[in-house]
Amino acid sequence: MDRYAVIGHPVAHSKSPLIHQAFARATGQHMSYELLPAPLDGFLATAQRFAAEGGRGLNVTVPFKLEAYAMAKERSARAEEAQACNTLAWRDDHWYADNTDGVGLMRDLTHNLHETLAGRDVLVLGAGGAARGILGPLLAKMPRSVVLVNRTEPRAAELAASFAEHGPVAAMSSAQLNGRRFHVVINATSIGINGDVPENLWPEHPFAVGGLAYDLVYADVPTPFLRWASQRSAERTADGLGMLIEQAAESFVLWRGVRPETSPVFAMLRPQA
Ligand code: NAP
Repeated sequence: MDRYAVIGHPVAHSKSPLIHQAFARATGQHMSYELLPAPLDGFLATAQRFAAEGGRGLNVTVPFKLEAYAMAKERSARAEEAQACNTLAWRDDHWYADNTDGVGLMRDLTHNLHETLAGRDVLVLGAGGAARGILGPLLAKMPRSVVLVNRTEPRAAELAASFAEHGPVAAMSSAQLNGRRFHVVINATSIGINGDVPENLWPEHPFAVGGLAYDLVYADVPTPFLRWASQRSAERTADGLGMLIEQAAESFVLWRGVRPETSPVFAMLRPQA
């Protein structure tokens, strides 16, 4: 049986085994998918041991996405663009690195949430690894503008400059936003489910009429960002569970050559929705 796993530290909380096992059942694929915890200083050794034992593919989560990218001998264009890897596939004698986070988010936004990105104004909060991973696929959807706001402003400026040739992206301070409104506001910071929203940093009223607030973080209760957005007239909110499932589906396509249905898995993981 072909073996797959999610590698991370910590990894026990990951929903990836549930997602991929459901995909495998639904598509009739003969494969296993397990948790692969690695020590902080042991990513490379753990990944190589998994391959030596017959492992065919890995999803990579915090904090190993950069190490996975660096380790791979071959990389997809979208991994190169993100300079990070969330999916590894074993090819003959080496790891092939891909990044399905950005395309997974785009599929959740456009296919599941029916969001039109072309011609829209999009605000991205944060300029870390996740923001880098989503910028290329986002700009490919031809938005009218993408604005980056980040706590460490030079980091946002650097990120915007490195994607300038892909489309209209600019870094701004929240003061510079000066009454601008956005159709889609994406939280790509790591403030998480228990952190405090940086009120002084984020614009007071960022949402255009019908605006969507999207949090990359997911939880069974509204996240701090989504509560903040609801108080500021966001008409629609969504957390990152859909992105998690869609990026997993993209990994599954890479590994197995079959596209699984994602909506039954969303319903399984969030039956109350
Ligand atoms: P990262 O590289 O560590 O970047 C963190 C970002 O958050 C930086 O822009 C950082 O700003 C900002 N930040 C951290 N604490 C902050 C605070 N207190 N106030 C304001 N800004 C703050 O992390 P990442 O890899 O980009 O991940 C970001 C989030 O996306 C994580 O929660 C991750 O779980 C989530 N994610 C979800 C999915 C999914 O499938 N749903 C996929 C990928 C990632 P500075 O530059 O100033 O430090």
